[in-house]
This record gives sequence, C-alpha cells and structure tokens, in this order.
Amino acid sequence: MLTRSEIRTYLTATGPAQEELFAKARQLREEHFGPTVILRGVIEVTNVCRVNCDYCPMRRDNTRDNDRYFMSSNDILERAGAIQKAGIDIILLQGGETPRNLAAIEDVIPRIRELFDGRVEILLNLGNMRRGQYEHLRNLGATSYILKHETSDPRLHETMRHESLDDRLQCVRDLLDLGYRVGTGLISSLPGQTLDSIVDDIELAGTLGVHMCSVSPFVPAPNTPLQIAPAGSNELALNALAALRLHRPELLIPSVSALEKTSSGGQSRGLAAGANVMTVNFTGETDRQRYLIYGKDRFVVNKQYVEDLVRASGLQTRGSVFLDLEAATNTPVGAGSCLRCTS
Ligand code: SF4
Repeated sequence: MLTRSEIRTYLTATGPAQEELFAKARQLREEHFGPTVILRGVIEVTNVCRVNCDYCPMRRDNTRDNDRYFMSSNDILERAGAIQKAGIDIILLQGGETPRNLAAIEDVIPRIRELFDGRVEILLNLGNMRRGQYEHLRNLGATSYILKHETSDPRLHETMRHESLDDRLQCVRDLLDLGYRVGTGLISSLPGQTLDSIVDDIELAGTLGVHMCSVSPFVPAPNTPLQIAPAGSNELALNALAALRLHRPELLIPSVSALEKTSSGGQSRGLAAGANVMTVNFTGETDRQRYLIYGKDRFVVNKQYVEDLVRASGLQTRGSVFLDLEAATNTPVGAGSCLRCTS
C-alpha cells in the first residue's frame, strides 16, 4: 500500500518518473495475474436513467429528447449467445438506473446461467438499488456488480450527480455483504476536482474492500451541462490507474474506452500502466447508437481490436478469475471466498 504523499507524487509523474511508475505497475500485475487481460462482453440493456449526472447524455433531463430503448430478455439472451460464441465467460449487463427493466433482468439471469451451463460470471452495472433487490438478483445467479463511487468528495458528488455519496457507498457495502464481487470506479479531471480528491478516491478503493476499480478521464459530452468543460487529462488518469495498481495490486483494473475516446492509443497505454481488464461491446448496432454514454460519437470496442491490442502489449486474453477461483475452492462465486488468498 502507498502513503498519501506517494500517491500524490505518482499522480503528477512525467517522463522517466512516469515510465518507472508504469513499469512497477506492470510488474505487480504480472505477479498477481500473470501476463493476462480478462475479457468481458457488455450488453447495454437500456439508455433510460432516473439519475441526472451532469456529465452524462443519458441523464434524466434528456430522457424526452433521447431515442429510448429497453432490451427484452429474449434480446439480451440472444446477445449473451453471441458473447458465448466469442469465447467470453463474463456477461456484463449495463444500463441506466431504472426499475423499468428489472423484470427483463430478473428473467434473463437464470437463462444466461443455463445457456453457459452455470460456468459464467454475470456482472451487473445497473446503479443504486434497495438491498432486497440486490439480494434477489444474487439469488437468481448474478455474481458481481459494478457501482462506481465516481468521486469520493461528498460535495462534488452531490454537485455532479445530484445524489448522495453516502447512499452510493451504502449500496457498495450491501453488495459486498451479500457476497457479490464488487467494482468501484472514479472519474479523474472532473471540473472542480482537486488532486487530493483523487488521492482520496484511490484510498477509498483500497478501504472499501472491493475487488475491481476503474479510472476514467472526464469526457465533456454533448447535450450536458458540462459540454464545454475541458476534456480530462489522459496522463492524470493513467497515473491514477498505475498508482491504484501499486496501492492495491490484487484489484481488477480495466483499460476503459474513455481513455481511447480522450486520446488515440489511450487503451493501449492503459495496459502499459497496469490495467488487466478489457470490455468488448456486444450491444446490437441500433441500440449501440442510442446508448449515449459519451454522446453519439463514441468509441466502440470490438473483439478483434481488443485481441490485437492485447497481443501488441505482449499479453494474452483470459476468462473470469472469479470462476477459476470458484473451481479451485469449490465455492460458488461471490459466496465469501477471498480473491487474494483463495481461502
Ligand atoms: S452516468 Fe449512469 S447514473 Fe448517471 S445519468 Fe448516466 S446512466 Fe444515469
């Protein structure tokens, strides 16, 4: 683990100091995971959201103008079949925060498990819910959950998301308590964010007890209150990613598409900075155009691109580490086993 002052110093690293930081991060990734990158397949199930984040084109205030969609459970299952054919064993179901697609999610989880004969990690990224809802999804077969804290500064969180950080963190604790493998995440370079606040983000990822954490540079998206704000710095995001790897080497850390959106070659540099997860997009063409994560002009990651990038980085793709752990310990994924010590 790093001290606050070490994290802060790493965040501003440039030139040889940055290269040294990245090399240390790669070495720790190698020690904990070998030369591998975990592949996920994502299906974006709806673009409707009840939340009103200032940086997101799918925010509540845009609902009326956006071309809304909700995928049916049959459509989700069909896309899950495409992920299976691609040889990927992590299905990420991601969408805006709305109860309106919950029935489809509840219906499809057991069907996906059946499709994969149980050997699948079902990872959800569907926002805040009541503990009982998380428990129900867990009982249906969901294994992991991404709920990013975005920023650990309570005031900035409230300003950017119009939601309470405490509520978000309570959801993270509920998920952990229910036996989910949990991912959090931060946005760097948010307007109004300080360097110390990013140090707090990294420390929070360490203390929450989560298994995964992402770092995304802020992207000023069209049709949002922050559309004219300056784009986030990829260098800062990459330094934060590498510092996170040094601080908590056992975390799964994705190289996110926002890095590529902000700067060409960004995802490759994410791997060079110690990331070990990549997500391939399996949303159907029409819905993908309507999933306005950074506006219409988004960078869509396909499998060939990921395979080429991983190979060029001297790494190999692999499947879910949680499923391997389950097989090694004969313990269902998320049922209390420890990723680090397999006990
Ligand atoms: S970032 Fe997520 S929670 Fe916020 S408005 Fe967009 S879809 Fe909703």
